[in-house]
Amino acid sequence: MPQLRRDPITGRWAIIAEGRAARPNDFENSRRPDCPFCEGNEAATPHEVIARRRPGTAVDGGGWQVRVVPNKFPAVEIDGGADGHPEAIYQAMPGVGVHEVIIESPKHLTATSELSQAELRDVFWIYRSRLRELKKDTRLAYAMIFKNVGAAAGASLEHLHSQLIALPIVPTNVLDEMGGALDFFDQHGCCVYCDMIRRESAAEERVVVETDHFLAFAPFASRFPMETWIVPKVHGAHYEEIDDAGLDELARVMWRLIGKLESIFDQPAYNYIIHTAPFDTKKPGHYHWHIEVMPSLTKIAGFEWGTGFHINPIPPEQAAAMLREARFDLER
Ligand SMILES: [Zn+2]
Ligand SMILES: [Zn+2]
Ligand SMILES: [Zn+2]
Repeated sequence: MPQLRRDPITGRWAIIAEGRAARPNDFENSRRPDCPFCEGNEAATPHEVIARRRPGTAVDGGGWQVRVVPNKFPAVEIDGGADGHPEAIYQAMPGVGVHEVIIESPKHLTATSELSQAELRDVFWIYRSRLRELKKDTRLAYAMIFKNVGAAAGASLEHLHSQLIALPIVPTNVLDEMGGALDFFDQHGCCVYCDMIRRESAAEERVVVETDHFLAFAPFASRFPMETWIVPKVHGAHYEEIDDAGLDELARVMWRLIGKLESIFDQPAYNYIIHTAPFDTKKPGHYHWHIEVMPSLTKIAGFEWGTGFHINPIPPEQAAAMLREARFDLER
């Protein structure tokens, strides 16, 4: 029997409808010798912003492990256009911001689990480093870090990479989520994420991976099959405040989660998004940073766009059990 489930933070509804089959995705995995993200092709990208590279190697040359470059086709730019001239009901603002690409390996890897845990940790390290740096720019209010893997998840290049878009305003989805968390805090006197961690960890049925400081679980009102959130157990609103030990553990949890997903589905397409508080959030008691991992196993169509509801054919309890049981525990 399908069930409507409400997310306690955003109030967003999901429809859990077991039995509607989700199909694995078959993204064409062709190799491109002229890939601009491969080591040796650095000249094909704009000049690098920062890189984790071997000592003695030159900027914009080989010898790097993770490399951040401006997006060649940016959605926003730091010296963005002039103010629009608002007419009547239409308002416009300059597209000021930063759009960067984080190239996650010098090799042409296409699956996150092909990175070692240490290499994935470097990726999380560089996210932290960019957020700490961009936070100093008072023109910027928010930075969104996300990763698209596979054509069905919106990736236009298969070489493993993530992106960062920093904006002068806080996006609506972020405000909605923070608003929902604040309402919960006002009503219950505690952080909704801290409360969820306690409940999910105790109940276990939706837990995917649990470590000392992180919990990965399928959320109660999962919108997508195999949707999983990774939440730090210690309350904190800003991703960039994570410490070095936290980066190690986060990389381990993400690496295992994605590896499990990849062992169940053949080259699954997915997105992950770091949900973190706006740069200037002063009293962050109600908000708790986390990462949402959303596989693209189903298509968003008219009903979803029209209602904002998602129809999810795999109940989160079943998704969590599948992921828990998936064999992917090779240490690399
Ligand atoms: Zn490549
Ligand atoms: Zn919390
Ligand atoms: Zn979130």
